Amino acid sequence: MRIHHLSCGSLCPHGARLINGEGGLLAPANIVCHCLLIEAGDQLVLVDTGFGVEDATNPRQLGMAFRALLRPRPAVETTAVRQVELLGLSPRDVRHIVATHLDIDHAGGLPDFPAAEVHVLAPELEAALHPKLRERTRYVHGVHWRHGPKWVKHEGGGESWFGFEGVRILPDIDAEILLIPLLGHTRGHTGVAVNSGDGWLLHCGDAYFHRAEISAPAECPPLLRFFQAATAADNKARRSNRERLGELVTRHGDEVDLFSAHDPRELERRRKHAEATAPAPSE
Ligand SMILES: [Zn+2]
Repeated sequence: MRIHHLSCGSLCPHGARLINGEGGLLAPANIVCHCLLIEAGDQLVLVDTGFGVEDATNPRQLGMAFRALLRPRPAVETTAVRQVELLGLSPRDVRHIVATHLDIDHAGGLPDFPAAEVHVLAPELEAALHPKLRERTRYVHGVHWRHGPKWVKHEGGGESWFGFEGVRILPDIDAEILLIPLLGHTRGHTGVAVNSGDGWLLHCGDAYFHRAEISAPAECPPLLRFFQAATAADNKARRSNRERLGELVTRHGDEVDLFSAHDPRELERRRKHAEATAPAPSE
């Protein structure tokens, strides 16, 4: 089993210091779209997809408001499908996509893997397919699922995982993967836990955005704090789940490695670690 940390597109809104916590006041921020590609036996599993080929070739489909505010930078060469090919793997082997949620910047690659099963929490699929008025912009009129994905919805419940509810998925593949519901950012937002063989990874999606939010004391650059509160489907649940993640770091930080979808420093650190521990290429 091998895990790759990919960034599939980025967002560059103005206000680096107020968003990343460093850089110029009005400089473009760097918000990555951190996805996982898991090699599990003869199958590939993607956790989130970032932006896809259609987003790169027709960025207008992302909607005027999203483009103006968040300045997305989709590019064909950073799509998951292209990065899978660059690794010498076949996109056809991506049989499963696990979505933390279905926001524009997480589900753009779905049309690039039309044969894959797409695993989501049931309330997220309900929100995406039947959005309330204020949810409509976040799911961009369904452009990312016009092709009719093979949805697999999962209900909550299940087993206990470090004090969180865990829903074990894909029992038949060569990787241990659980959905860890972290509602708040969207109606059916979930974290995704993966047993790397060397400890657990927890992809926290958009349960938090900046690494300092789960440190003690918790902090967050001001514009990012405002953005998260303003866009949350349930802000109280979001804050409570973020606090629980902070407690998880304090109690089990040596057993679970947490990261969010959008922090570039977190991505850089996991990439370096993955490179340093990768098996040497065989002759
Ligand atoms: Zn996001």
